[in-house]
Order: sequence, then structure tokens, then C-alpha cells
Amino acid sequence: MRRLLGGRDADQLALSFDDIPRTADELLVRLRALGLPPRYARLRLTRNRTVMVSFSGGELRVHSAYLQAPREVHAAMVTFVSGRTRAARQAARAVILAYPIDRAPAPVRRAPRTRAEDRGIVDELRQWHDQYNADYFGGALRPVTLRVSRKMRSRLGHYTASTPGGAPAEIAIGREHLERHGWTEVLHTLLHEMVHQWQDETGRPIDHGAGFRAKARDVGITAAARRTVRSRRGVAAIPPAPVTRAASAAADGERPC
Ligand SMILES: [Zn+2]
Repeated sequence: MRRLLGGRDADQLALSFDDIPRTADELLVRLRALGLPPRYARLRLTRNRTVMVSFSGGELRVHSAYLQAPREVHAAMVTFVSGRTRAARQAARAVILAYPIDRAPAPVRRAPRTRAEDRGIVDELRQWHDQYNADYFGGALRPVTLRVSRKMRSRLGHYTASTPGGAPAEIAIGREHLERHGWTEVLHTLLHEMVHQWQDETGRPIDHGAGFRAKARDVGITAAARRTVRSRRGVAAIPPAPVTRAASAAADGERPC
């Protein structure tokens, strides 16, 4: 086992059957406990949605959604690769395919972090989020992760809904937006993203449709998905960008989605 797991202490990886394997190594330990033959020395997790389980040489490739699969599905994976009869392997294959990978919780994405020197901006944004929440949303909006992005170039801001995998909802504001347009425009963008947050938390679609425009007018911001933002050097001219599923905000061609 020590050799198979690349020198790591196998005891450290021992899992009770109540634990959910979190890594390829832990899943390999689980499958071994269920009878996986030692000739499968490696296990690789994939995200290829057309292949659930495959094997070649000593390597087993498994879609990452199967980490959370119940014990009988893991047992079926062992039978699928090492079952003695074709019928047993076929039955195991059916069990594997019946496991709904789309309903498995998505892996928690590792959110980018605000850089240390931008944290003061985040503190300021948080105070405005609190203030606007009280002023325009009756204090009903949840606390949300606020982030300053140095990578955001074509967009001014962005709202990302929380995921079933546990990643929290987030409002990101472009650092460049603040530098080019100043706080008044950034706060306009913050409110725009807060309207998306309100859409999300009240079960509405996150878009720039009639509901968005009505709420935007209520809170006193430009109702359009795009707006003209005056840069300190003149009017910003950034070409329109496509609207994606998550919503972003933009200026005359710049998106605050
Ligand atoms: Zn938007």
C-alpha cells in the first residue's frame, strides 16, 4: 500500500465508510477496501462527462462526481473493472450509469482572493453594501462576499450566485473601474450587482430583463445593462461584450454584470 500510494502513509488515508473520499488517493483506498485488485495502482479523477469510469494499464479514471457516490456505486465500480463474468460487469455498469452525476454537488471552486493592498476598498464596499441594503432592500439582502478584481478588464462588476457545492455568492468589482471612473461610478455598479443579488435571493432569473429594469429604477440607478461611464480622461469606450448566464455590469459597451 505504501508503494502504491507513492510513499504516503496508508494509515493516514484510511477512511471509515461514513467518510466521503475527497481525493483520488482516498477513493483508491475506498475501492481497495471493496476488493479492487492491486493491479490498479493509480486512480485519476476526470471531469469528462462522457466517460464515467475507464481503465487502461494500471490506471483507473473516474469522473470526480463519483467521490460522493454511495457505497454500492463504489462497489459496482470494482465489479465493473474486475468482475468475473460479463453479466456481472454489465450489471455493475448499469449501477454506475444510474448514479446521477449532475445532481452530485459541484466541487467547491476556489475563489480568487482580493489582494492585501485592495482590502481597504473591500471594507469601504462592505459599508456601502450595508447602507444600500438598508436604504433600498429593507435590509433583506444577505451578507455577500465582496471582492476587488485586478483581472476584470471589460467588465465593471460581476455578481456570482452561490453554488450547491458551498461556494458563497460574491460581488466582484474591477480595480481598474475604480481607478478609471472613481467611487461614484463604482457605487453605481455595486448597486447594479445588488439588484442581481436581490434577483437571485428572491428566486428570480438573474438577467437584465423587465424585472431588473423596474428594480433598478426603484433604487435610482441606470436601468440598462450597459451604461456610459465617464472616465477621468473622457468617456470610456469599450466594445460590447456578450451577456453570459451569470450577470455582469458594463459601461456604454462596458458591462456591470
Ligand atoms: Zn448586470
